[in-house]
Amino acid sequence: MHALAKIAEAIGGTTKKTEKVRLLAEYFRSRTVDEAAISAVFLSGRAFPAWEEVTLQVGGAQLWRVVGMLAHKSEALLTAAYRRHGDLGAAAYEVLRSVAPAHSTLTVLQVAEAFRAMARASGPAAKSALVTALLQQATPLEAKYIVKIITGELRIGLKESLVEEAIAKAYSATPAGVQRANMLLGDIGETLRLADAGRLGEARLRLFHPIGFMLASPVEDAEEAFTYFDHAAVEDKYDGIRAQAHVADREPYVCLFSRTLDEVTESFPELIAPLSTFTETLVLDGEIVAWDTSEHRALPFSELQKRLGRKKVSEAIQREVPVAYVVFDVLYAGDKLVIDRPLRERSALLDRVFAAARRPVTVGPTGVQGRLTFEPAVAAGPDASAGPPVQVIRAPVAAADSPQHLAEMFEKARERGNEGLMIKDLESPYTPGRRGRAWLKLKRELATLDVVVTAVEWGHGKRANVLSDYTFAVRDGDRLLSVGKAYSGLTDAEIAKMTKWFLEHTLADQGFVRLVEPKVVIEVAFNAVMRSDRHESGFALRFPRILRLRDDKTPHEIDTLETVKEIYKRQKFPQSV
Ligand code: AMP
Repeated sequence: MHALAKIAEAIGGTTKKTEKVRLLAEYFRSRTVDEAAISAVFLSGRAFPAWEEVTLQVGGAQLWRVVGMLAHKSEALLTAAYRRHGDLGAAAYEVLRSVAPAHSTLTVLQVAEAFRAMARASGPAAKSALVTALLQQATPLEAKYIVKIITGELRIGLKESLVEEAIAKAYSATPAGVQRANMLLGDIGETLRLADAGRLGEARLRLFHPIGFMLASPVEDAEEAFTYFDHAAVEDKYDGIRAQAHVADREPYVCLFSRTLDEVTESFPELIAPLSTFTETLVLDGEIVAWDTSEHRALPFSELQKRLGRKKVSEAIQREVPVAYVVFDVLYAGDKLVIDRPLRERSALLDRVFAAARRPVTVGPTGVQGRLTFEPAVAAGPDASAGPPVQVIRAPVAAADSPQHLAEMFEKARERGNEGLMIKDLESPYTPGRRGRAWLKLKRELATLDVVVTAVEWGHGKRANVLSDYTFAVRDGDRLLSVGKAYSGLTDAEIAKMTKWFLEHTLADQGFVRLVEPKVVIEVAFNAVMRSDRHESGFALRFPRILRLRDDKTPHEIDTLETVKEIYKRQKFPQSV
């Protein structure tokens, strides 16, 4: 573990990407393949490979209590250390320096074992005992990185893509080969083993384990959308939750995964039957929405929200809030991965998949030239007439030939109650986990930002007993920089729920303000971006409004300082305070 901590320090000590890759490749080569494989997982900021649905469930606040106990430091000193670094691992190093052993024999394999034991242990007390036992054996520098891996934030400027590059360099493989194997396997450690054995080409998609979702970039208006490519497929932007469906003729038959790659099949039991009507092994991408069964259209996210957050959903709630799965892409079909084919071909393939389903009633207006209307477009489950209506729908696709045309389509999409439009390059492949300009999203607001809450305050008046004022930040590399503060626009029930969460995940209680674990992602709208020295980012949002909690996004996916700068530049009248 000492060698890993030292190499992590060296990687964090240089800003040059090529140097980071060189250092890491050298480190991999100097270790056994078992150690290198585990290190690759740890250095991607994870305790376990991505595809495993195992989590440590050790919160930052809990971790900090263990560090405090080991360091024998007062709450005030601990808070001061945290404030100085803004990072639990770096703060742990500082406070443990005088008490932790100077040498240790801890290996990465032992740390990996300890993480497995923590994941298996149930209850905070049992987990804390295991964290304590592990940290007790560690030097301050090792503790620093153990803490960072547990919190999932290494902050050494090492993205998983750089770990991939280092594997390619260390084992003389191509970066593209490594990247592809890792995408398919969701396991950077296993990818390293294959690279070492010269067998990267043998990596296969693991059905029933999710692969990353392709992401979209925002555009401000129809004019801008037209600057990126010549032939676009245009779809409504549905306001629900993103879901990847895996369908096969073997158990578990159907699995649904959320954007955070968590399995959500049990939350939508009524989708299992209609998804089983497909006749081949498939991986589909789409959006689950609340569905108006008489008007045949999607309902706003607030409807769907009524049944989210429950793991098991009753039949009553299924009837109260029916859902539909609107499918817009296919990643795997006919025993082949099809992500490298252009959208034009995937779209045609998806039409064929729907046409071949055993019991679809109709698949509605599809095809690139299809009309953008909503006729019943339903693949019904076996007993659709008996139970609540169940649906899997092929998202209608249309083509726009001018910005004016696109602007009209946008208004129509809004009239149908959808959020706006998605505009997709027909020649583009499906790029898992990447945000590019091949998919564009056009929404109503000037712009919204996905930000993470870093500090909260008690409210005023009737909100004096709840934490209702949120300070939020955008990402700049490994750093989180505050960009605004807003009174919560959430419902009373949400504020109450979040208050409880923030109290349990406070890193430092400064009386009125509490620094909290940066985990809660919210979407904020605003009227303008201004220059400001009040916030660390150097910018402030004018009239920020919290639109909603984004449980489906992780803090890694929030918007960046770069995006804030772009929005600032795009404004017609730059403002400052
Ligand atoms: P946003 O969540 O605002 O970043 O917008 C991107 C999200 O829009 C995707 O992750 C999907 O969940 C959602 N979405 C809705 N309709 C579509 C569509 N037709 N194609 C792709 N994504 C869509």
